[in-house]
Amino acid sequence: MIAAAHTWHATVLTIFPEMFPGPLGHSLAGKALDAGLWALETVDIRDHTEDKHRTVDDTPFGGGVGMVMRADVADRALAAIDDRPGPVIYLSPRGRVLDQTRVRNLADGPGVKLLCGRFEGLDQRVIDARGLEEVSLGDFILSGGEPAAIALIDACVRLLPGVIGDADALAEESFALGSDAGLLEYPHYTRPAMWQGYAVPEVLLSGHHQKIKLWRREQAEQATRERRPDLWRRHAETRN
Ligand code: SAH
Repeated sequence: MIAAAHTWHATVLTIFPEMFPGPLGHSLAGKALDAGLWALETVDIRDHTEDKHRTVDDTPFGGGVGMVMRADVADRALAAIDDRPGPVIYLSPRGRVLDQTRVRNLADGPGVKLLCGRFEGLDQRVIDARGLEEVSLGDFILSGGEPAAIALIDACVRLLPGVIGDADALAEESFALGSDAGLLEYPHYTRPAMWQGYAVPEVLLSGHHQKIKLWRREQAEQATRERRPDLWRRHAETRN
C-alpha cells in the first residue's frame, strides 16, 4: 500500500515506554493508530546506557537538589533515531509554548521525534550540540515529558487526513470560529432544550443558519476579548 510510506510517524524517547500508547490507544487516536493512519514508536532511553545499572541520570554540577539526565546517554538515544522522520523536539518548561499553528505544521510534516525529560531536566549540552527545539505545554511543571508528548501527539493526530470523519468539524474550527483563527470557540449546547430552568439560547433553535453563524462569531469574539486579551490583540492585528 502506498499510504504506508506516508504514515505520520511519532518517535518517543522515554525512560517509561510502558506509558505509551496510554491515552493515545483509545478513542480517535487509538482507532487511527489501529487503522494505520499514524505510527507510534517508543525508544527506551535506558537501552542506550553503557553501565550495568543502566544509569540515565547523575547529580548536578554546581550542587542543588535532584538529578540531571545525562547528555551522553540522551545523545546516543537520539543518534539511534536519526533516520526517523520529522523534527526533534525536547519537551521542556523552558521551551516555546505549543500552539495550534505549530501543531498544524507538525501534522502537515512526516512526523515528530520527542525527547521526554525526567528528573530536574536534561544536560544543556545535548540541547546545544544538537540544536534541539524546546517546546512547552504551558507555564506549569510536569513530573516528566511523557504527558506533554502524549498531548502533542494527540493534537497532531486529530488533524491527520481521515482521522476525523466529519471534516466539517475541522473546517469550522479552522474557518473563523476556532483556535486556528486565534479565537476561543463559541459555547456549545445539546438536548434537553430546557435543563434545571436553564434554556438554550433562542437563536440556536431558530433554524436560521446565517443568524446562528453570526451569533457564534460574536460569542467567540466576546469570550476571547474577556478571557484572553493576549489572543484578542493578536487576532485584531492579523485582521488589519
Ligand atoms: N527542573 C525543571 C522541571 C523539570 S520537570 C524546572 O523547574 O524547570 C522534568 C521534565 O518534565 C522536563 O525535563 C520536561 O521534559 C518535562 N516537563 C515539565 N514541565 C513541562 C512543560 N510545561 N512542558 C513540557 N514538558 C515539561
